[in-house]
Amino acid sequence: MSAPADRSPTAGPFDLTPPTPDQRAVLVERLSDEERHVLLSHGTEAPFCGGLLDNKKPGTYACRLCGLPLFRSGTKFESGTGWPSFTAPYENAHLKLVQDNSYGMVRVETLCARCGSHQGHVFPDGPPPTGMRFCINSVSLAFLPEGQPPARSVQDWVEEGAAF
Ligand SMILES: [Zn+2]
Repeated sequence: MSAPADRSPTAGPFDLTPPTPDQRAVLVERLSDEERHVLLSHGTEAPFCGGLLDNKKPGTYACRLCGLPLFRSGTKFESGTGWPSFTAPYENAHLKLVQDNSYGMVRVETLCARCGSHQGHVFPDGPPPTGMRFCINSVSLAFLPEGQPPARSVQDWVEEGAAF
């Protein structure tokens, strides 16, 4: 558990200050019902249905709620599970990992480190080089094509993210 103000050296140029209640209200308002269910209520989208499953374009995958970059296209791989899968986070500091004992399983849940929204789970059965498999819901992510820089702060995302 790192405090929001604790900027680790790996956090890069991104501002990890969580959304204010007002910012959060604006951002939640933008979400679809399914996005809200997954991001805010720990839901899981149906497999093989997510819009980003087969996306192979170069770019960045950001948290759909707050815009923090969470994954890079270069680490995405075809896992066969039906959900977008990655071998590594954008930055370790951008994901929070929490043990999840729901549904009678012991899993590790991945949350956006900035806004706390649910992204998916991580399993230790991924391919090299990390051996990790971050299994993420498409609706938890916003894809930013190469050339579109991720928003640095929540406020930038509030102002720029209207297009998503
Ligand atoms: Zn977020």
